[in-house]
Amino acid sequence: MNEPVKIVVVYQSLLGIYGDHGNGTVLTKRLVWRGIDAELVTVEPGRPVPDDGAVYLLGGGEDLAQIAAVRELKADGGLFRALDRGAVLFAVCAGYQICGRSFTVGDHDEVMEGLGLLDVTTRRGPRRAVGEILTRWERPDGSTSLITGFENHGGYTTLGPDARPFAQVELGVGNCGDGTEGAVQGRVIGSYPHGPNLPRNPALADHLLELALGTELGPLPNARISAELDELRRQRIAVARHSRNLAEDTRWLGERE
Ligand code: GLN
Repeated sequence: MNEPVKIVVVYQSLLGIYGDHGNGTVLTKRLVWRGIDAELVTVEPGRPVPDDGAVYLLGGGEDLAQIAAVRELKADGGLFRALDRGAVLFAVCAGYQICGRSFTVGDHDEVMEGLGLLDVTTRRGPRRAVGEILTRWERPDGSTSLITGFENHGGYTTLGPDARPFAQVELGVGNCGDGTEGAVQGRVIGSYPHGPNLPRNPALADHLLELALGTELGPLPNARISAELDELRRQRIAVARHSRNLAEDTRWLGERE
């Protein structure tokens, strides 16, 4: 019998303050709904990161948590071995930043070395980016899909030549206000939107699974679940568009303080 497909949420207690654990739940559910045996593993610092996972997830968190996560992941080595084996990594916000070459922390913008998995660099931006974000993601077949989420980050990220943007911003800040959002390099995807992201964006969830499994998944067998998810998605996109004015009023909290 095949081993269950392992979805690994990495360091929930450090990088889990924005509910990004939900990304792991969604990936696991979407496999199980299709009759594919799947297991959700949450690994905490001090425990070995399994290197036989299919998809790894990093979430958002505070500066100090980012420093600890980098230190632990480098010492552990399991995530690097898994990626060498062909696993997929989806990293959100603080998780995205630590995947880069470097990022800054604290009031004095101390520069910290990242995991070096993405050719990106993060430095404190002029204003904190907070609010609904709507982006357009180009899928591997050339079609595009909207991504909705909520961004909340002080760091601004710029891409080097080895990384390409994950999506184009329609509403919000994204990487650094240059119209791009997130980064892709091989099987590592970094992106700012929380939400959590994958319940709102099932096409992206399936893309991660298809990358990891090397096979097309097709639609969910249960049409009622698909219809509910479509409706949630329709509502989130409408809210993002509707709240554009409100979001622009509140996005630049720094200016009002
Ligand atoms: N500390 C990082 C920043 O503010 C990440 C924040 C987060 O994960 N939401 O840029």
